[in-house]
Amino acid sequence: MAKSILELELDPGAFVLEELCRLCRKPVENDFLRSFSEDAPAGKLLAFLNRMLPVEQCEKKAPRYSPYLTICLHCSSSLDLDKVRESKLDFDDASITVLSAGSYKGLLRDLIRTCKYMDDKLLAVDLGRYLAKCLIANSSLPQEKLLYLIPVPLHRKRLNKRGFNQALVLAKELGRLTNIPVRVDLLKRIKDTTPQFGLSLEERRTNLEGAFALSKTNRDDVSTIVLVDDLFTTGNTLIECARPLIDSKSGQRRFYAFTVCRAD
Ligand SMILES: [Zn+2]
Repeated sequence: MAKSILELELDPGAFVLEELCRLCRKPVENDFLRSFSEDAPAGKLLAFLNRMLPVEQCEKKAPRYSPYLTICLHCSSSLDLDKVRESKLDFDDASITVLSAGSYKGLLRDLIRTCKYMDDKLLAVDLGRYLAKCLIANSSLPQEKLLYLIPVPLHRKRLNKRGFNQALVLAKELGRLTNIPVRVDLLKRIKDTTPQFGLSLEERRTNLEGAFALSKTNRDDVSTIVLVDDLFTTGNTLIECARPLIDSKSGQRRFYAFTVCRAD
């Protein structure tokens, strides 16, 4: 019976990450390879070796390790892959097709809140993983060519405080699993807006006006844009992100947005 390098050479149990499940606080047991960044040479080498050897495939066999870094196997089974929710946001002469992996409630809401308020970068990776799995399972990925993921940018001040942009972490994992390139050179946040939470609908709109602008880099090769964010509420953030991207010589663009959750 063919075995993967994991089972032949290494005992994954010896390489358990010291991460506690963000939902039940018990240790998460991950597949050893997942603890490596794709960018790290050791991770690349091991991933390559693992692909070279046939892996035993048996759908009936229950998985031994969690497919996530911060959610244990038990809790991940409660986090069912949902039907993708599709919404349309119209603005000016354009529109954005928003695809969300789930509703902002239950376990998913707990995870989004932990990620946001505890500045949990590893959890942001998992949310990107969840979003990718959901989009793939529902065959919801756009088929256009020259498709790029653009994470909703964070202002420099906020970035310095938090240390990372969760939308970028999400987009990177999403890009890795879907093979859609991530572009961070096109859009920047020029206004340090106050958090949207607690503002009225009108205040939310004016708060974000002119918050985003194009970066100077050449952008003519981009035809379809997918904005990436954790949560979709009123859609103002997505619209304000898309607005500067539409005022371009290259003319009409198609806009999508992938979000982990939709508030409904
Ligand atoms: Zn758990």
